[in-house]
Amino acid sequence: MMTTPALSVTAVGGPFVPTTVSRRELRADDVRIEIAFTGICHSDLHRVDGEWGGGIFPMVPGHEITGVVTAVGEDVSGLRVDDRVGVGVIVNSCGECGPCREGRQQFCAAGVVETYNSRDYDGSVTYGGYSRGIVVREAFAHRLPEGMELANAAPLLCAGITVYSPLRRWGPLKDRSVAVVGVGGLGHLGVRMAAAMGAEVTAVSRSTRKHADARRLGAAHVLAADGPDALAGARDRFDLILNTVSAPLAMDDHLATLRPGGVLVNVGAPQAPISCQPSSLIDGNKAIAGSMIGGLAETGEMLRFCAEHGIGAQVEVVDARSIDTAYRRLREGDVRFRFVMDASTIGK
Ligand code: NAP
Ligand code: ZN
Repeated sequence: MMTTPALSVTAVGGPFVPTTVSRRELRADDVRIEIAFTGICHSDLHRVDGEWGGGIFPMVPGHEITGVVTAVGEDVSGLRVDDRVGVGVIVNSCGECGPCREGRQQFCAAGVVETYNSRDYDGSVTYGGYSRGIVVREAFAHRLPEGMELANAAPLLCAGITVYSPLRRWGPLKDRSVAVVGVGGLGHLGVRMAAAMGAEVTAVSRSTRKHADARRLGAAHVLAADGPDALAGARDRFDLILNTVSAPLAMDDHLATLRPGGVLVNVGAPQAPISCQPSSLIDGNKAIAGSMIGGLAETGEMLRFCAEHGIGAQVEVVDARSIDTAYRRLREGDVRFRFVMDASTIGK
């Protein structure tokens, strides 16, 4: 066992306190990673705030991890010491069930093991990336493409794959009209990726404050969603809507902006039911869908796509002492567009 400095919350709502966590001795197919950066995802906030229930405390969140391999187990063949890698939301799956064999490990029939707040198959609780180091199976560490900055790459491991996967599934997007609703950690990457896939992108944000940024990220159009009838001018406009909003969405208003046959994909995950009028779907053969992160192979594909198109997250780097402030600002929507923690400041 090795211990590593970390930040944990001991009860719903925080605050964070410095702590240490144990990391297992390397098994044959494990790699040890010195963490450089960890993104602060809104899912971490939902979890810490107890919105999803099922919290295991003390909790060390963090599932947007980048760093450098510092040791490898004896059977590891694809990674070496000093390789730059990323770890996302999942750190284990059975590898044998239908979903695992199809490359959709996030739906593992034996129960996927998430990077934190999860129980691994040996019964141990998982602790995430708000720490200096982590040990994971080789298969769950993604080699980062050359030249990708560790800080800007970290959010790709959750936010990036979460928007990439549905954009691919509902594509090809070339010359299609795509709305990305919510320009936050996920949304700003959604705008960049959809634009890189050739879509005509509209960024839908609550106010006009992020409009200039959204255009710079690749949006051809911007819309302010707040206010009565704000979306009225956008009826029948989109083939695909990617909803990344962390709060409940006015479904009927947004469905009205889809063209016939259009799809609204939810990746935003507030703990609240989705409701709409049946006629909002019937009139135009529209569909509501969902999407959860992505599998291992697709995550690798996403990283290569981002490298090819020069896509990384726009980040604000914070140190460990500022974590509670970062959480407050994330609750208030005051971040452009992702906080990443410099993990080397943890325990100092
Ligand atoms: P984020 O950075 O906080 O961005 C969320 C955006 O939603 C905000 O920037 C804001 O965009 C909009 N928003 C926030 N509160 C709102 C409100 N009350 N009304 C209207 N709009 C609001 O969060 P994130 O990290 O991108 O995560 C977004 C959601 O995706 C979270 O619910 C998270 O749990 C979920 N998620 C899902 C998956 C998955 O696998 N499906 C993976 C990761 C995250 P504007 O300022 O532009 O309006
Ligand atoms: Zn996340």
